[in-house]
Amino acid sequence: MTSPFRNLPSVSRLLAHRRIRPLASRMASDSVAEVIRQQLEEARRAIAAGHECPPTETLVESVLARAELLLQPTLRPVINATGVIIHTNLGRAPLSPEAIAAMEAASRGYSNLEFDLPEGERGDRLAHLEALLCQITGAEAAMAVNNNAGAAHLALTALAKEREVIISRGQAVEIGGGFRIPEVMRQSGARLVEVGTTNRTYLSDYQQAITDDTAALMRVHASNFRIIGFVESPPVEDLARLAHEHGLLLLDDLGSGCLIDTNQFGLAAEPTVQESVAANADLTMFSGDKLLGGPQAGIIVGRQELVAHLRRHPLTRALRMDKGSVAALAATAIHYVRDEALEKIPVWRMISMPLTTIERRARRWARAIGAPARSVHGRSMVGGGSLPEEGLPTRVIAIPAHDGRSVTELAQRLRLGQQPVIGRIEHDQLLLDPRTVAPEDDTTLVEAVTAALGR
Ligand SMILES: *Cc1c(COP(=O)(O)O)cnc(C)c1O
Repeated sequence: MTSPFRNLPSVSRLLAHRRIRPLASRMASDSVAEVIRQQLEEARRAIAAGHECPPTETLVESVLARAELLLQPTLRPVINATGVIIHTNLGRAPLSPEAIAAMEAASRGYSNLEFDLPEGERGDRLAHLEALLCQITGAEAAMAVNNNAGAAHLALTALAKEREVIISRGQAVEIGGGFRIPEVMRQSGARLVEVGTTNRTYLSDYQQAITDDTAALMRVHASNFRIIGFVESPPVEDLARLAHEHGLLLLDDLGSGCLIDTNQFGLAAEPTVQESVAANADLTMFSGDKLLGGPQAGIIVGRQELVAHLRRHPLTRALRMDKGSVAALAATAIHYVRDEALEKIPVWRMISMPLTTIERRARRWARAIGAPARSVHGRSMVGGGSLPEEGLPTRVIAIPAHDGRSVTELAQRLRLGQQPVIGRIEHDQLLLDPRTVAPEDDTTLVEAVTAALGR
């Protein structure tokens, strides 16, 4: 009996195949050979599992498809029609044109990233950010690292290693994406002391837990959920006062880093960075790519000597921001300095977008797509662990199951189209929210939906 593996062509035979040879003009020859080897390996495994040896033409098709996948980046722009403004899985905050331009300029050529132009000497990349971040938050000192998880890790490692940090049981939470406050504390070598109960923690709970080993009290803004009803947690200023009476620090992990009063948009008040600073938190930490509306970053603002201490810590080097993000963060901060955040920063444009504008777009979409799409009332979400149950009234287009196509099938066709569009399914309808779609993408969205509906 001949082995079924014997019928598999060799690598060199496939390399010389008339349909594979042209790949050499688009792909390094080692890469073509590697793709062939991977495909043959897969075929061998299939044969070993009892499948027939595939015909050469099938192998060739698979090699070409595999090569095509390698030649296209898998990370692609998508249209976010979910109505979730800060969607972590879709890349959080889109950047303003100014932030993108700054990022591009810093990436294209050289820059004075760490170079002091007047002196002609080595400079500090954080120098591009500090004055701006102080200006917009009211803090006396500021720095930034790669992300907020890194900021929390740095602060705890540098200031509380092998000492105790007191935190309310209701705040020792998982923020999302596996970021658990107790875990971060353990990793940093700080000892977590949980006080109070899940729903209620009083100032006296913190007070009674203070020992000679305590380094800090920590507040974590329970940003992605809300316990409502019988709840209690002391305000930051009380925590700060208690900490300072005992010579301790108050570390405030705000999560979202909101700088703008959210009440004005009919949302609950998201705690702002300015409030935390004014309440005397020693360090306040927040993300760059949530409600701030900038690039991924972990911003730390607060007392001068503490920030100086963190800046000298070796972890700061390991967690440093790249130049593109430094440029984009500075450009984003400048929008706040210029008092143009609502017009220029995409997440704030979306939050403050008038309902009449959204209504007009939803009606236009529904008209252009035609039945069974129709414009209905809906709610957009802020997302990104901010304002968990708050919705902003919006208009969405709703598409029910149609022509024998289920709603999940339609949603999948939209995800897999030329231009992926992500919607959300509710009550067995596919909902598409104009609030989170850039107006310049309206035509593309309508075309994608029309194609997915099979028109
Ligand atoms: C989102 C969040 C973090 C993590 O921030 P990243 O910038 O994603 O690392 C930490 N703490 C809180 C309270 C958060 O909401």
